[in-house]
Amino acid sequence: MSKKPTPKKRASHAQTYRRYKTFARKTQKRLFNAASLSVCPKCREKRLSHAACPACGDYRGRSVINFSKKIDKITKVKA
Ligand SMILES: [Zn+2]
Repeated sequence: MSKKPTPKKRASHAQTYRRYKTFARKTQKRLFNAASLSVCPKCREKRLSHAACPACGDYRGRSVINFSKKIDKITKVKA
């Protein structure tokens, strides 16, 4: 025996279509928008929410990543 009762009346096209569209939209969102990106208010670059901006190093109005320090390329390898 099925757990759900038999529907009394046939669902209208709008009801069926709405249900299908909701399912499709949710599935699409889950598949293509797994990482939700937000826009950095300082440089308008896309960044992960609740994380520092990789382009300007800004997080919640203050700079957290110092880009002034330049890392030299590794030319010698200590043996
Ligand atoms: Zn930024």
